[in-house]
Amino acid sequence: SLPMPIRGLRSEAYNTGQAVFDNDFAHSKWMQFMPEGHASLENVMFVPLVIDGKPQGLIGLGNKPGDFTEDDARIATAFGELASIALRNSLTMSKLINLQEKLREQAVRDPLTDLFNRRYLQETLEREVSRAKREDKPVSLIIMDVDYFKRINDSYGHVAGDKMLSAIGETIKKNIRLEDIPCRYGGEEFLIVMPGTSIEIAQERAKTLHKKIAELRVKYNDHEMQITISMGIATFPEHGSNGEEILIRADRALYQAKGDGRNRISIFQNTSQTPRP
Ligand code: GH3
Ligand code: MG
Ligand code: MG
Repeated sequence: SLPMPIRGLRSEAYNTGQAVFDNDFAHSKWMQFMPEGHASLENVMFVPLVIDGKPQGLIGLGNKPGDFTEDDARIATAFGELASIALRNSLTMSKLINLQEKLREQAVRDPLTDLFNRRYLQETLEREVSRAKREDKPVSLIIMDVDYFKRINDSYGHVAGDKMLSAIGETIKKNIRLEDIPCRYGGEEFLIVMPGTSIEIAQERAKTLHKKIAELRVKYNDHEMQITISMGIATFPEHGSNGEEILIRADRALYQAKGDGRNRISIFQNTSQTPRP
């Protein structure tokens, strides 16, 4: 679009909804305001783009050899109407697409931590295990449950508890790889799907994360909150042949970690038959 000084013609195009032209633009009063690049304009025409009755833009034409005519203006107006329809449709489409993406994103995210939710995990886990099977690679699962989290709520209140959970979520996000899938599995339970990760590597990653979470300090009013976490690990293919089995076994390992005194990491043992109540 052309700069400000031509506002006179512009607003005429806006207000009438029709193309307007000036064949003597070079001698018009607007010329003195024109910046260098536009100083050679002989004639100009503006075509309004009107969407839902509101002018939304202009197409500017200039320096036609000879003069603009009323016929040119009619053709340009018709063209402007077509362009407006196309513009409106594409704006509507891109709004719809954005909205759809937002909704899809919201449907798989936990709002407090912005981690994936349980529904997404269920969709993803089987897919990842199937892929691992095809590619002959491992998949590890770490399930975590905050130790004595009830005490945080009881001591500082639910809002403080939420702040703690969201800080844990941040810590998880910061300490995983791009291909890992972090989820909020339940209230104070988290889970990471680690495609391509063996038991040994998963254990190392769990140790790092376990330490980071223990070192986490979260301020709430005058208090500084800290927690520990228990973790259970299970890996495909060693501990199960599908996602559901791996999930059950990681959970079993977590239960073991709780039973052994909390604040620790437990790997599923085929011998441990303790069912989780
Ligand atoms: P354990 O070491 O055995 O895991 O003890 P715990 O207190 O963490 O376990 P329990 O399952 O008894 O309690 C979990 C608590 O987490 C209970 C519930 O009030 C709290 N909780 C669950 N979801 C949320 C949440 O979204 N926000 C807050 N603030 N608290 C939550
Ligand atoms: Mg729990
Ligand atoms: Mg807990």
